[in-house]
Amino acid sequence: MNAAPHFQRVALIGFGLIGGSIARGAKLQGLAGEIATTARSEKTRARVVELNVVDRVVESNAEAVKDADLVILCIPVGACAAVAQEIAPHLKPGAIVSDVGSVKGAVVKDMAPHLPDSVHFVPAHPVAGTEHSGPDSGFAELFINRWCILTPPEGTDAAAIDRLHAFWSGLGARVEIMTPEHHDLVLAITSHLPHLIAYTIVGTADELGQVTSSEVIKFSAGGFRDFTRIAASDPTMWRDVFLANKEAVLEMLGTFNEDLSKLTRAIRRGDGEALFEHFTRTRAIRRGIVEIGQDSAAPDFGRPHPSLRKE
Ligand code: NAP
Repeated sequence: MNAAPHFQRVALIGFGLIGGSIARGAKLQGLAGEIATTARSEKTRARVVELNVVDRVVESNAEAVKDADLVILCIPVGACAAVAQEIAPHLKPGAIVSDVGSVKGAVVKDMAPHLPDSVHFVPAHPVAGTEHSGPDSGFAELFINRWCILTPPEGTDAAAIDRLHAFWSGLGARVEIMTPEHHDLVLAITSHLPHLIAYTIVGTADELGQVTSSEVIKFSAGGFRDFTRIAASDPTMWRDVFLANKEAVLEMLGTFNEDLSKLTRAIRRGDGEALFEHFTRTRAIRRGIVEIGQDSAAPDFGRPHPSLRKE
């Protein structure tokens, strides 16, 4: 628990997985004096009132940002421009305006022109998530030991960056600063391409003629089910990610296609050595991820397994 809240008044625009997790974490850690939130639909706003995890649920974005010293847009990337334009006249001078979008170049381009000079714009992306969405899906621990990348435009007030850095650290995240362009390249290979591959393979399996859908589901433990978790991610969010990070995704996709062709050739030629060398290299990457604490070392992602022993 911190001695004093980092911000007197925090406004969260959008209350889904990410907004809901920020709200719960900030409350638990005492990072905000007061949290006001809003969502697009009456249904979500009513649910947030029932959940009783924020101080105020308001009807409009303008009302939410009034007097807030930190405003975070927790909405799909494609909605950020219109919301930035809408809230701009209602922002308190000196406020920090941020977001959580999974793409940064497009969000900066979309939001920055609307924001007044009197506020500090510090875009952010917490690299943490699940395949769930909506007001019930958030939890306070989501960001613990996960990275949050800040992409402040050149010349951003250093004190504002430090305050947002401290806020995310308070939520348990590790914070790194990079340019929006570099962020988009890094995330294209670590997040966006894996999602595209998962969406592709699950769709392909669904359309196969020779293997029935029920067989795909029945024998999914052979590897397929691990793709289905990613392919169950929110369609609106991921549509927006691919539209907004087009260039970086296409660049990574080009490299991926070349590597896929190499492996295809190795299989066709029966080149076991090439396949073994490749798989050994990728296994080491998995070990590295476990070693730095970004995943569990438990076998099969820690899934519980029934016992064969009799009671
Ligand atoms: P979510 O659970 O679907 O919640 C989205 C929220 O945004 C809802 O409150 C929704 O309101 C509101 N919203 C949707 N469309 C809107 C619009 N056009 N204008 C205003 N508000 C709108 O989504 P999420 O997973 O929290 O994702 C939010 C942001 O976080 C996205 O930009 C995403 O790229 C980023 N992000 C997601 C993850 C992840 O794994 N999910 C990880 C890191 C970053 P209603 O409920 O009323 O529709």
